[in-house]
Amino acid sequence: MMGPSHALSGAAVWLAGSWGLNFFADYEQSPLAIAVGTAVCAGGALFPDLDMSGKVTKNQGGATVARTFGVVSLFFAEVMEKISLGVYHATKLSKDPHRNNGHRTLTHTLPFTFLVGWGTTALCTAYGKWAVIGILFFMIGLALRGLFDEWAKRAGWVIVTLVSAAAAYFTFLHLPGDRGYPMLGLAVGVGCFVHIMGDIITSNGVPILWPVPIKRRMWMMIGIPNKIAVKVGGKVETIVLRGAFTVVSILSALGLAAPSVLRRFNIEI
Ligand SMILES: [Zn+2]
Repeated sequence: MMGPSHALSGAAVWLAGSWGLNFFADYEQSPLAIAVGTAVCAGGALFPDLDMSGKVTKNQGGATVARTFGVVSLFFAEVMEKISLGVYHATKLSKDPHRNNGHRTLTHTLPFTFLVGWGTTALCTAYGKWAVIGILFFMIGLALRGLFDEWAKRAGWVIVTLVSAAAAYFTFLHLPGDRGYPMLGLAVGVGCFVHIMGDIITSNGVPILWPVPIKRRMWMMIGIPNKIAVKVGGKVETIVLRGAFTVVSILSALGLAAPSVLRRFNIEI
């Protein structure tokens, strides 16, 4: 799937999950916590594609998401792609094909998802304030780039960077540490997982089973059959799926806001 669809799917899953927790388990979150979780999950749902590097020296190429913070994120993507390719070669078995590019390998696996989620919480717990601001800044930037792609393209990376920095600082000032820090890790992890699920329904698939070897392959690409797979950038993705993610997001947000609105007007339910 393309960037905006990934970001929207992350936002939809987080909002629907928050509504579910609220409705079925009475787990209430402040509006800010919900907004932050949604933004971070949307950003996390773009994170795995930061393994698509371009030509840093020429400031070209790379996934849209790799351009969020200009050449800096393009460079980051380059490093991530090379590390992924390194891990691919180090762990490949005899039947795994040769690769020149690390896209859709390491960052599209379950151990990576788990590591990123756990690492986020660990960083926030160990380094507090500065780690939280840094992670929020990074994830909000990715989310802006994904959710408001047309705006982000027009505004350019400098504006996106400034808006992310301001949003990260504001959030940090108001987000309590107790629940907030583990929540950031969960939101990033869920986002990465939603990304992998989004890629699994497209024709190329993802190496979801890594590192479990099957038939002398460690990097078996698992996806749904080509006949019914979603075409990247096709109508099913841009109209049907994005429409569904948007509807789920809006309904969940309304469901989350409804009780407090009713309470304000003293309406009993
Ligand atoms: Zn991907």
